[in-house]
Order: sequence, then structure tokens, then C-alpha cells
Amino acid sequence: MYYLKCEHCGHLNEVKSEYLVFCAGCSKKIENNFASWSRKNAGKTLEDFKKLVCINDEQAALLEKETTRKKIPLGIKILAGYMAALAILLALLMLADDIFSGLRNIFHF
Ligand SMILES: [Zn+2]
Repeated sequence: MYYLKCEHCGHLNEVKSEYLVFCAGCSKKIENNFASWSRKNAGKTLEDFKKLVCINDEQAALLEKETTRKKIPLGIKILAGYMAALAILLALLMLADDIFSGLRNIFHF
């Protein structure tokens, strides 16, 4: 089986016929479709297109693995959120300290 990867959403569309133009994942036009490819590659068949442009089962499985590996675990996401909140809190505290010492200089307390 061969797949054509959508450049908009990354969905792998199974190439069942030469008429695959729109992505099943996002309904957008796949620019690298067979019709436009064969215009640039006169005389080439759908089989050539599959071999040269499309992704086969093996590559699709690899691609799938890569995307799962790249996914950031939820725990790290939450931790990153806490860190960001802490950084904002620290910045605010420093700002408050600045304002406080500024006021102290004005009012001498
Ligand atoms: Zn898509």
C-alpha cells in the first residue's frame, strides 16, 4: 500500500487511484497529487508516482513511530507550565520589590 502525505496536516492518504487530490484528513488540496505530478513527468505512470513520490507501508510505519516519539509527555507539559507560572511570579515579586524600594526612597520609611 502507498500513501501520499498531506502537506497541510500530515495525514497519510492511501493512494487507491490516480484521482487522489484532496486530503481525507483536512479536505485541502494535496499539491503533490498524481495529476499535477504527471504533467511535470510526462509518460510516467501511477506506479512510478507511487514509487517515487508516495510513502510505502514501511516508511509510513517509521513516520508514525517518529511522530509518537516526538510527542511531549503530559507530565513534562505540566511541569513546563508550573515553571512558566513560577517565572512570572518571580518577575512580579522582583517588580513589586522595585516599586517598594522606590516608594521607600520617596517616603523615607
Ligand atoms: Zn490534510
